[in-house]
Amino acid sequence: MFREKLQQLRDQSLLRVLTPVESATGSSIHYGGREVILLSSNDYLGLTMHPEVVQAARVATERYGTGSGASRLVSGTLPPHAQLETALTIFKGTEASLLFGAGYLANLGVIPALIGSGGLILADRLCHASVIDACRLSQADFRVFRHGDCDHLESLLRSRTTDRSTLIITEGVFSMDGDLAPLPDLVSLAERYGAMLYVDDAHGTGIMGGTGRGTIEHFDLERRIPFHMGTLSKALGSYGGFLVGTHELVQYVINTARSFMFTTALPPAVAAASSTALTVIDREPERRARLWSNRQRLFDGLKALGCTLPPTVSPILPVLLGDAASASTFAERLLAHGVYATAIRPPTVPDGTSRIRFTVTSEHTTDQIDEALHALRLVIRETGLV
Ligand SMILES: *Cc1c(COP(=O)(O)O)cnc(C)c1O
Repeated sequence: MFREKLQQLRDQSLLRVLTPVESATGSSIHYGGREVILLSSNDYLGLTMHPEVVQAARVATERYGTGSGASRLVSGTLPPHAQLETALTIFKGTEASLLFGAGYLANLGVIPALIGSGGLILADRLCHASVIDACRLSQADFRVFRHGDCDHLESLLRSRTTDRSTLIITEGVFSMDGDLAPLPDLVSLAERYGAMLYVDDAHGTGIMGGTGRGTIEHFDLERRIPFHMGTLSKALGSYGGFLVGTHELVQYVINTARSFMFTTALPPAVAAASSTALTVIDREPERRARLWSNRQRLFDGLKALGCTLPPTVSPILPVLLGDAASASTFAERLLAHGVYATAIRPPTVPDGTSRIRFTVTSEHTTDQIDEALHALRLVIRETGLV
């Protein structure tokens, strides 16, 4: 039975396999005995390899051990957890914050804590799988609105029975398209219709806004969006998820989110690494400057090659190819020419929108970007795709 299912996936160009890589620095990886340019990591600021971040993890491991022992509700909160929550609270300018084992777990725990059976969730159609899973878990009614379409959202808000508890969900920076949610309009709608707004800022945290606070800073909406979630695994370079918000909300989530209560706390090293990453983000703004100039160089190059991109404004630069087979072929050919960038296919993205999702970081050199664009030109010529 498994064999047939796997064969079906293979026939549809939808089979996923794990690719062993021998090492990963910021901008290139050793793969199959050679060095290839990596354009698919979310380590946007190169912090996974930052000497201070690595050192913080090492020191915390020596001091506190490799694991946390149990859920924080069982064995307590270690200093690295408390320090990171304080650092996140300050970084995001909220009253409080709460760590989760991963961004996935934050969504899975927080969304069902915010709304349950009898409530209504209205989520952007392109929201991440962890949001979708959380919505199902919440047992609230769940509808999607067309991507970024506030008119559609408003019509759904109008047609609901009044006084119904409602949660609007969006990403800040969309993970597969790289575009921004129309947050100012979403906030206005939430305020006008008495709905809550939940923003997943996994890809905005660390890079968006004047000081890297995220998409909410980008739109200057800190005062109107009292809580949101993010991850430590992308620009912050380690692992784990978080909620930031009011004291009351955090206390409530501690008492209700099952993915917080019933799972072991983050390893101390991971928490310590993220705390240090937050200080580096403030101290080395040149990382963000390099990220954005690299992003512009790759974006301009892709446009010059005639690539079709969604309206991205972030370091996520997806080249749309359509069907899954084309995207797979394109990724294979790119790899043959020394560029590692993955084909993103359904169910990660809607049918017919398979793509190569390029992500660029502060660590790429301009030569690497130009080499990657050269490889891309060759692959376009070879395959006739784009
Ligand atoms: C990556 C991602 C997550 C999950 O975060 P992890 O920390 O990797 O579990 C959640 N939401 C969005 C939008 C993401 O891109």
